[in-house]
Amino acid sequence: MRRRVLTAAVVPLLGLPLAACSAGSPGAAQPAPPSASASASVPAARVAAPSTRPTPPAGGKGWTSRDIPVFPPAPPPAPIALPKGGSVPYLSRIPTRQPVAFITIDDGYLKSPEAPKLLAAAGVPVTLFLTTDAIRDDEPYFDRLRRHGAVIEAHTITHTELRGKSYAFQRHEICGSADRLGARYQRRPVLFRPPFGTRDATTLRAAHDCGIKAAFMWTETVHKGKVRYQEGRRVKPGDIILMHFRPAFVKDFLAALRAIHRAGLTPALLEDYIPG
Ligand SMILES: [Zn+2]
Repeated sequence: MRRRVLTAAVVPLLGLPLAACSAGSPGAAQPAPPSASASASVPAARVAAPSTRPTPPAGGKGWTSRDIPVFPPAPPPAPIALPKGGSVPYLSRIPTRQPVAFITIDDGYLKSPEAPKLLAAAGVPVTLFLTTDAIRDDEPYFDRLRRHGAVIEAHTITHTELRGKSYAFQRHEICGSADRLGARYQRRPVLFRPPFGTRDATTLRAAHDCGIKAAFMWTETVHKGKVRYQEGRRVKPGDIILMHFRPAFVKDFLAALRAIHRAGLTPALLEDYIPG
């Protein structure tokens, strides 16, 4: 009942970023004045659209705004406590009872043109664990994602397996990627995900020494539109969903959103749950 009320309240608001998105060009040359184009286009559309000819929903290749669930607002985030010491914790989920889950998107090899539009339309935060070698050919692409709620974190330079490697090797991969991302995107990463989710004690020590606060596994993965659960068949509060920049980006992202929505949860930003 409560959710239904909240949903109804959110629907009209969602129209604004959609209208702004479809009106604006994805080109980086326009620094996007969304409020201006939204306020100009939305009332006009409402006046001009009689009930006999509804305006088609905004969208892109393989999706429309109707595919995007409407979520209840996320609660104010309550950051977790992190253990002190010379290593970072390795977490597969955020220990919280708040009705939230986290979407993370890894690597960055394939730059789907739909991703910026989808993120803009969905209006949900995501965390990107980017490999610097993977994004080198189009770093501005990720600026566009940042403008729509993405936060960039570290995922090594070369996407190599870290486990079993020397401290110097691991430190170079972690610090090197964090330094590069910090210089390019004006925010140095504070979170880290080791490639393949494999790590050892040296990884967590090197990450700590690189200024990282926590390293992450995941609880669900999405591939080709299918959600795979580590345990159970439902996203739980605090769960972390992993997907990649792959050809099925649209299907994967929508599947992640639907799984979170079906569980009665709202996407929240992982960084908001890590103490500052
Ligand atoms: Zn990866």
